[in-house]
Amino acid sequence: MGRPLRMCAVCRKRATKDVLLRVVSRERELCVDVRQQMPGRGVYFHARRECVLGRLKPRLFKAALRMSDLPSQKALTDIENELLAAICVREVERQKADFKER
Ligand SMILES: [Zn+2]
Repeated sequence: MGRPLRMCAVCRKRATKDVLLRVVSRERELCVDVRQQMPGRGVYFHARRECVLGRLKPRLFKAALRMSDLPSQKALTDIENELLAAICVREVERQKADFKER
């Protein structure tokens, strides 16, 4: 079964959803959609620091999520921190999985 591909909004390469993080806009706030099941538009980023740290631009979210206004600087800082935290969680999970396979 082919798995659907989504594009990372920063490097614009396509990847399967399991290596991406999804961000949605809720009540004008940006949040990571951990289960990737929230309704509405989503924007994807690779779950790696190079595609998040210092790379999140307000216009990118406004266009991808069809927001009526640009997200605030605080919203950007918050979502960057949230994504970086999610990346750490992914890395820990991967290390645990690698450990089990050995
Ligand atoms: Zn990327």
